[in-house]
Amino acid sequence: MAKANPTIGRIPCACCTEEAALKEGANGLAYYTCQWCGYKGQAFSERSNNTLRKRGTVKAAIPEAVPPIPSPALTPMPPVPQSSITAPATTPPATKPPRQSGTLLS
Ligand SMILES: [Zn+2]
Repeated sequence: MAKANPTIGRIPCACCTEEAALKEGANGLAYYTCQWCGYKGQAFSERSNNTLRKRGTVKAAIPEAVPPIPSPALTPMPPVPQSSITAPATTPPATKPPRQSGTLLS
């Protein structure tokens, strides 16, 4: 069974301008068959091969390097003026009055 030719990129169809899969044949030359209109573009020389690969978006030409995701800049906390630093309001928590338990004879 023949091995499927690898897809090397995408290329706009010369006929209908839809995007087609650009493949590389066993001879190393690029070709594509438009899935939308059936047009077939094929390179038969090194020159046309280069042209097809330039027109298309060849994956190998795209660097795989992923740009590092910039971490969010850590902004230093602004200095807090001393005047705003105050002791928290020391309001005693509302306490229940002491239970009137015990004897009623007091
Ligand atoms: Zn087409």
